[in-house]
Amino acid sequence: MIGVLIRYHEVALKKGNRSYFVRLLKQNLTSSVSDLGLKEIRRLQACLLLTLDDNVDKEEIRRRIAAVFGVANFSFVERTPADIEILKSKILESLNGRHFNSFRIDAKRADKTFPLTSPEINREVGAAVKERSGARVDLKNADLVVSVEILPGDAFFSFDKIPGPGGLPVSASGRVVSLISGGIDSPVASYRMMQRGCKLVFVHFHSTPYLDKTSQEKVYELVKILTRHQYSSRLYLVPFGEIQRQIVAAVPRPLRVVLYRRMMIRIADFIAIREKATALATGESLAQVASQTLQNIAVIEKAANHVILRPLVGMDKQEIVDQAKRIGTFEVSIIPDQDCCQLFVPRHPATKAKLDEVEKAESGLDLPGLTRDGAENAEIRELKFP
Ligand code: ATP
Ligand code: MG
Repeated sequence: MIGVLIRYHEVALKKGNRSYFVRLLKQNLTSSVSDLGLKEIRRLQACLLLTLDDNVDKEEIRRRIAAVFGVANFSFVERTPADIEILKSKILESLNGRHFNSFRIDAKRADKTFPLTSPEINREVGAAVKERSGARVDLKNADLVVSVEILPGDAFFSFDKIPGPGGLPVSASGRVVSLISGGIDSPVASYRMMQRGCKLVFVHFHSTPYLDKTSQEKVYELVKILTRHQYSSRLYLVPFGEIQRQIVAAVPRPLRVVLYRRMMIRIADFIAIREKATALATGESLAQVASQTLQNIAVIEKAANHVILRPLVGMDKQEIVDQAKRIGTFEVSIIPDQDCCQLFVPRHPATKAKLDEVEKAESGLDLPGLTRDGAENAEIRELKFP
């Protein structure tokens, strides 16, 4: 049997709601390893214990759990009765074949009825390990750290502590509609919102048949990668070309990009109501491109009924690229595509759109009709992981 002890930090800070957060974390962990021979998942004091079949790939378990938001860190553990003698002998047994010159014991006694305090456990186990291995104790840079946890009835020990992604369990913060292009930024924005506990519904606007299908194919791949963190995703593919054609017919060139954006926001708003989502999210980063000046963001925002979350607003491009590489979306994002915002737009879009000009430009359009058509003509794809 493989045991994994999972620790959470931020979740533990949620006093009144802790049970709810832990329940969600448990659910998400269960989903993430559902095909890996999960036997049991049990709440212990301030941590969760996962038990899995012996014959599954530990590396795969590690990858899965390291992607579950809300996990602060985790360890592959061995379990013994909460008895210091048994604990010592089990640890010594497990050290057979391991080579290390220095070590430290890191004991935590969650069960205060256990007869030894944490420092006493450190000393007892430390003395036994030292005698057996000949290695020295090093409290700062040990080759080997033996973590010991004493819980009511059970003791656990492990030789590794693997970092998790932190944050909050997906769904803890509710539902959010994420506007996702095939670019670098919006997948990173999506990741960051999931990390804050949002369950995302994805919306992508494409200009097929005026442009090819590459952006849709890329977005599908990106959502597939992101679904590793939320286990099921819905993706709306909104045909936007016809709407753009109508905007183009009615509106002076420099304002088009801002009008496209406002239309995207209205359609996303419409979908948010249907999906019972509380907010929208975009990958906008202040002043990164012409459409994202403060003035333009303000004018785009006025079209929204829901709050727009912009997790990347204060990040620079290199930081976003670095994170895209870490979360595995970068390689897909840089595949060349035909983005809908390139359709019928000037080389130099307005950087300081004024609300009254924009509203005047929109006055000839059937905004509610276009919004409804966009949302209702969307193709819906469902993705699952694993
Ligand atoms: P990205 O790298 O996410 O494409 P960007 O740097 O290209 O962003 P913009 O083109 O100004 O910046 O887009 C800003 C945001 O608007 C995007 O991050 C995304 O949230 C949303 N957006 C843009 N185009 C689309 C689209 N075709 N479908 C859905 N959302 C879009
Ligand atoms: Mg883009």
